[in-house]
Amino acid sequence: MIPIAKPMLGKEEIDAVTEVLSSGMIAQGPKVEEFELAFSEYTGCEYAAAVNSGTAALHIALLAHGIGKGDEVITSPFSFIATANSILYTGAKPVFADIESDTYNIDPEKIQEKITPKTRAIMPVHLYGHPADMKAIMEIADDSKLIVIEDACQSHGAECLAKRVGSFGTGAFSFYPTKNMTTSEGGMLTTDKKEIAEKAKMIRAHGSKIRYLHEMLGFNLRMTDIAAAIGLVQLGRLDGFTATRQKNAEILSAGLKGISDIVPPVIKADCTHVFHQYTVRAEKRDQLAAFLKEKEIGTGVHYPISIHKQPVYRELGYEDSLPVSEKAAEEVLSLPVHPALSRTDLQEIVEATKEFYAKD
Ligand SMILES: *Cc1c(COP(=O)(O)O)cnc(C)c1O
Repeated sequence: MIPIAKPMLGKEEIDAVTEVLSSGMIAQGPKVEEFELAFSEYTGCEYAAAVNSGTAALHIALLAHGIGKGDEVITSPFSFIATANSILYTGAKPVFADIESDTYNIDPEKIQEKITPKTRAIMPVHLYGHPADMKAIMEIADDSKLIVIEDACQSHGAECLAKRVGSFGTGAFSFYPTKNMTTSEGGMLTTDKKEIAEKAKMIRAHGSKIRYLHEMLGFNLRMTDIAAAIGLVQLGRLDGFTATRQKNAEILSAGLKGISDIVPPVIKADCTHVFHQYTVRAEKRDQLAAFLKEKEIGTGVHYPISIHKQPVYRELGYEDSLPVSEKAAEEVLSLPVHPALSRTDLQEIVEATKEFYAKD
């Protein structure tokens, strides 16, 4: 079976974990601090705060900006559910703006239509590793005095206008095993604002800066030194992983060219795409996925249901009509693109897809 995702873990990661375990310092410690510094430098931000998931990074980013009950946050309906859920956790209301049909990212024109006096923030998602239209989004945010929190959980190192994602507003990254780099579970908040970084670090540790003095309500959302040690190694390998993902995507796009049912991923001007997923659009999506499964090729649907259509959101009264997102949910299919694929794997994916379309 060719899997849809596979973490790249080797001797360096194992040695790094062993070193931490041998030290006896296994909770948050010096490795976390070292990882924060390295990650903030990589992203081009002044500060970073490591946490135990991407979801925690999103949640803390909202709290650190003081977003809560009575506030509205405009976000994408076409994402992993954690994006919108992080807004619900704070008591604020997620407001969905429809997406662009080519990048699957939030459409700046649709954001404009959703702004009300209650709007406090915009939370774009850089889906599949392709940056959202940050030029337009930052302009809207400037004009309407809105906070920008970027869900960069799928886009480590991706650039828009030669600037890395997560450095436009407050960034949130995930290091889940399927992401472009991993720490097992883990996440990171990035920011240029000292007060946001300080608040984030307090919120992740029960609202405390000085031991047993609790200035605000916080949680336990800390990263361990075990996870940070893995993260430091993975960060050093990230550019190599990304280059392989980009090369794999090129091979897939070249191989699939000419199949009229398949719309390959686009890369917009002024953007780099780090191919967390290689996602095509196909009307025969479900049949193609079933055929590839028979050929032992794993695929994924990211995502089969728009967030506003999920039962948990229907129950909250969401009845939006967001046709671009709903259509994408019916047609997208992710093919394997991860750096563990061999040339032969890529050829098999292309040949099997061609075979499927040749038979009808
Ligand atoms: C993975 C992901 C998250 C959540 O990250 P976790 O580390 O799993 O909590 C949030 N948003 C998007 C777009 C993601 O892909």
